[in-house]
Amino acid sequence: MRRFKADYIYTITGDIIPDGIVVTDDHGKILSITDEKISLDPNIERYEGIITPGFINTHCHLELSHLHQKIKQKTGLIQFIKEVILTRNYPEEIILSAIQKADEEMWKNGIVAVGDISNQAISAEIKHKSKIRYHTFIEMIGIEEAKVKEIMQNASILKNQFKTPASLALHAPYSISIELIKELRRYCKGKENKISIHLQESKHETELFMTKTGPFIGFFKDLNINAESFKAKQKNAIQSIVPFLPKKQNILFVHNTFTSLKDIYLTKRFDLQLFWAFCPSANLYIENTLPSLDFFKQTDFPITIGTDSLASNDSLDILSEMKILKKNTNCFATADILKWATLNGAMFLGLQTDMGSIEVGKTPGLNLLQNLKDGEICEATTLKKLI
Ligand SMILES: [Zn+2]
Repeated sequence: MRRFKADYIYTITGDIIPDGIVVTDDHGKILSITDEKISLDPNIERYEGIITPGFINTHCHLELSHLHQKIKQKTGLIQFIKEVILTRNYPEEIILSAIQKADEEMWKNGIVAVGDISNQAISAEIKHKSKIRYHTFIEMIGIEEAKVKEIMQNASILKNQFKTPASLALHAPYSISIELIKELRRYCKGKENKISIHLQESKHETELFMTKTGPFIGFFKDLNINAESFKAKQKNAIQSIVPFLPKKQNILFVHNTFTSLKDIYLTKRFDLQLFWAFCPSANLYIENTLPSLDFFKQTDFPITIGTDSLASNDSLDILSEMKILKKNTNCFATADILKWATLNGAMFLGLQTDMGSIEVGKTPGLNLLQNLKDGEICEATTLKKLI
């Protein structure tokens, strides 16, 4: 049994408890949470700072970990993707050792569950053995309508190579067809299949969708992608895809860098289980910009946080992401952002019965945050993983 005391316990689902004590069993399961004012128990581990549940990283690409510091910064999404495609092939042992290191780094940084995008099965064994709980999104790519069945089939084969939970997901509106979304919707009928899709990461995606113009046309040519079946839609990406997404499935919109208030209002009109993911470090790395965070005060859907991959980030660290988010919002406080990093992520991954909040019976992991400024996360804030 272990007992932890800190200035504040952020339970996330309940009150913030000043001078609270969290008691866990040897496996980290929460046995009780109290606010006994004076306890003389010498076995209590006492800390300054706040105790939070373990963090949930809803967006990562473990299989790109070996590209750490290999891709030029701030060149824009199209150049970034080109470089990733051209440079991602490395000997298997280099990729595996980078994945292993990234997995250990996330654990050390207080991350207990990860939503991870995969195009290959190379991360399967490390995920299976990891202390972190993984959900793998098998990423489907392909703009040609004629190839929809083949793409779905290949994705299903890849999914079966993972021993940890996995589901079929979509890459991004600019790299898929509406037919593929419809086929995925048919596949989802009667089963649970969590979906993730990169969205509005570049303003050029809007040009492509509205008028089939802009740098994506050259991108398709350079990569020999047949984009003939893609038609201009006079609507942006979010407006174009939302009507075709499956209902009753958790769907994660990742990045949302160019999402407008109008787009946020539009999503309210559809009966969907949407979640938003912010990956601010990657947005700064790739496009040198950030989403209009304060617009999301208007959303009805939960917000989550992702690190994206080491190809577009210096570390896989949710605290670093929270620092950027806190610095760039006037509407959200640390308590809101902590909920994004914990409970909301757990809800998206379907882990909320066991993770995401400090409640009796859950095994959420415990992080200690220190060096806050007036109770808010700041540049100096540090993390110590307690469990
Ligand atoms: Zn990504």
